[in-house]
Amino acid sequence: MTEKKNYGFTTTILHNDRQKGIEHGSLHKPVHTSVAFGYADARQLASVFQGKEPGFRYGRQGNPTVSALEDKVNKMEQGVATLCFATGMGAIGAVFQALLRAGDHVVSSSFLFGNTNSLWQTVAGQGVAVDFVDATEVANVAAAIKPNTRIVFVETIANPRTQVADLKRIGELCQERGILYIVDNTMTTPYLFQPKAVGAGLVVNALTKSIGGHGNALGGSLTDTGAYDWTRFANIFENYKKAAPAQWGITQIRAKGLRDFGASLGPEAAHHIAVGAETLALRMERTCANAMALAELLESDERVAAVYYPGLKSHPQHGISSELFRSHGSLLSFELKDGIDCFDFLNRLKLAIPASNLGDTRTLIIPVAHTIFFEMGAERRASMGIAESLIRVSVGIEDTDDLLEDFSCALEGC
Ligand SMILES: *Cc1c(COP(=O)(O)O)cnc(C)c1O
Repeated sequence: MTEKKNYGFTTTILHNDRQKGIEHGSLHKPVHTSVAFGYADARQLASVFQGKEPGFRYGRQGNPTVSALEDKVNKMEQGVATLCFATGMGAIGAVFQALLRAGDHVVSSSFLFGNTNSLWQTVAGQGVAVDFVDATEVANVAAAIKPNTRIVFVETIANPRTQVADLKRIGELCQERGILYIVDNTMTTPYLFQPKAVGAGLVVNALTKSIGGHGNALGGSLTDTGAYDWTRFANIFENYKKAAPAQWGITQIRAKGLRDFGASLGPEAAHHIAVGAETLALRMERTCANAMALAELLESDERVAAVYYPGLKSHPQHGISSELFRSHGSLLSFELKDGIDCFDFLNRLKLAIPASNLGDTRTLIIPVAHTIFFEMGAERRASMGIAESLIRVSVGIEDTDDLLEDFSCALEGC
């Protein structure tokens, strides 16, 4: 198969492994379980170790199956290089491990995935100052920036309240100030949005979610989009400045983040995720349409106090979401009116499953304050706009009518 430049999203992912020629004509990149890679010529081993020629050294730093997935994610994000990690948190943790030093400052959106929020608290205890701001307004980010600000970190659509960051203007601000802009694209996926388009230098994807898509493997990735000029980054070690500046960031993250931190993706998980990724676009079309229909149903129901979904005209960032994203995502959240017990409501649902994952093919539903945001306490929850009765729905690919009926029925109390 010869490579053509302009294949569509799904065609590119489906046929990507074959571009490099797969062993035995296999159609999937095989699961290579070997930890070590042997070389007949010891000089070649040395030259692979010294980065003078390509090749695998040891499973923690890379593996052919993982590398094939990295190549696919890189194509989806149109990046210059992508690294995979054992989990999404592994990818985010590696960024901070590899790129931050005591005395640095980070500006982060306050509307964050719960464990990322917790990780920031850890980092703060290690001498890195973190300021949380309402990133739906670029002015808040601008006001928080200091001379030692190294990173601005935001999510596209925040989980669970669905606030949409002022992505484009924050990108312009970071570009102007020479600050590394990191966007967690998990909620939108590269099918709905490529953060490179708004100047993100690094893109995070929790592959566990929609990209893998079936809730059967954990994984995460970091993509260097090529948009950031690494010569403006204060924390690159001299040792990693030997190649062209475009390579500095990813080289340091590979060594300090992946190799030393060790949250490496296993080949079996990489295989599951790669198979799931083949249908990302198809699944997103369906889950986004289902989410829109469910959001409309909930919004029109008098027993529902509030619905948060960027596809609704009532959503404060509906305009930005419509402008930047192909569609508004598969996650929504809502609050029931006082007097309706959210646990009783959840127990009446027959299809939607009480569970904490998202981006699965099945619809999953969770009472946020009592589970994933429990540990942080009521005060921090309130500052993040998380009501005690908030229910998050990760909408799956069920037939739309079945899904709507399940929710109507549970609302009516049947
Ligand atoms: C789930 C998630 C992560 C973490 O991914 P894991 O694979 O569960 O570690 C990070 N960011 C967002 C937005 C997520 O939803």
